[in-house]
Amino acid sequence: MRYFYDTEFLENGHTIDLISIGIVAEDGSEYYAVNKTALWDRIAQDPWLMDNVVPHLPPRTDPDWKTHVEIANDVSSFLMPDEDGIELWADYAAYDHVALAQLFGRMINLPPQIPMFTHEFQQAWNAMGRPALPEQTDGLHYALADARHLKACFEHLGGPPASI
Ligand SMILES: [Mg+2]
Repeated sequence: MRYFYDTEFLENGHTIDLISIGIVAEDGSEYYAVNKTALWDRIAQDPWLMDNVVPHLPPRTDPDWKTHVEIANDVSSFLMPDEDGIELWADYAAYDHVALAQLFGRMINLPPQIPMFTHEFQQAWNAMGRPALPEQTDGLHYALADARHLKACFEHLGGPPASI
């Protein structure tokens, strides 16, 4: 099963701390969560996050707010391998992969069914000559909207190029 995902995170040049994650499966099923245990005092001091990410988050009473451990358990259950296993895709995927993998701790703690890499949409798009893509009309930096948009772009391209 192919999964498209996006994370929002706090980073300071040394660490990447998950704020929210959105995942859309190839079959259309979706997962979204906000990290209740994120470093909210530091996030509050980050003007870019306060302007671009925080406004998209649901109210703190929303059940999508979960602890890091709850999100790890959810993600581990949501990412279900089929006969093709699990294929992860993200846009500018390097930071997203770290944010996802660190849900489980160190690299060696990644659940065995979850791939140790995420396919890079930018690489696939470049290999195809950077054709026009659908516009994302709203929800930019809302992780679930970004994941939905990535899936739409991927489907618009008709899948990855054969060389990827
Ligand atoms: Mg995003």
